[in-house]
Amino acid sequence: MAQIELVNRKFPEWLKVRLPKPDKIQHIEQMMRMARLHTVCESARCPNLPECWSKGSATFMILGDICTRHCGFCAIKTGKPLPVDPQEPMRVAQIAKRMGLKHIVVTSVARDDLPDGGSGQFAATIRALHETIPHAIVEVLTPDFKGKTWCIRRVVDAQPEIFNHNIETVERLQAIVRPQARYDRSLKVLETVKRLDPTIYTKSGIMLGLGETREEVIQTMRDLRNAGVDALTIGQYLRPTQRHLPVQEYIHPDQFEEYRVLGEEMGFLFVASGPFVRSSYNAIAFSQRVMAERLARVGAVESA
Ligand code: SF4
Repeated sequence: MAQIELVNRKFPEWLKVRLPKPDKIQHIEQMMRMARLHTVCESARCPNLPECWSKGSATFMILGDICTRHCGFCAIKTGKPLPVDPQEPMRVAQIAKRMGLKHIVVTSVARDDLPDGGSGQFAATIRALHETIPHAIVEVLTPDFKGKTWCIRRVVDAQPEIFNHNIETVERLQAIVRPQARYDRSLKVLETVKRLDPTIYTKSGIMLGLGETREEVIQTMRDLRNAGVDALTIGQYLRPTQRHLPVQEYIHPDQFEEYRVLGEEMGFLFVASGPFVRSSYNAIAFSQRVMAERLARVGAVESA
């Protein structure tokens, strides 16, 4: 049984864990390779992989593993991306069905090289998943499509249950952390989704430990709430390699807990906040809420 190495002498106690990697996971990884598919879970070496996969959620990365951008925290390769593969949406759907997934997250690198930013491939993947696994929850974690409304509308029209777009950090640090993105543009993406279809849940995520202050984090949470965002994830930034931004601070679990409570007081439907929290962490917990509300909505229509 392979071990996931997360032990690092300079990590504080709460970040020192060794997680077993069940054989079932290795079997799924082999399936992914045979299907020529990528997951963020693997490429980001996410510590939560065994937990999420065994709970029935995974994050697929479409549109290849080469990005047109160069964010200071991200281990994904930058360069000339691969051509769009028209068979990929159905391959994702078939593997997701074989894995017995109930909550599927679809994400991608930034494809500024494509006129539609990859929004067409997102829409095709959402439709393939809904067709193949009708009762599954489909969450998309998208780039900002350079704020183009017609690209956002293309994804919205495919009706994902959850539309996630990470703002990643506070306004002051955007230029260092994600130089090709913008704080206001990311807020506009999330607002546009809600304007185009208020029944879609929106979600965003922040990493901590890059030098932000408590006040700046709370202001970012407020800005997201004002943009109508329903769900929020807050996690600890961990440096992938020496080439990436240094960690300025390891945030204590008590501070994460304070942000969780504040987030719920601000009206977020769901807040996952903790050192190991990632964008799709515990996605199932939020999708159970989505399912419950969806059933209630259907029930209300039928009894009307
Ligand atoms: S846009 Fe996304 S995939 Fe590309 S470098 Fe930034 S975080 Fe990584």
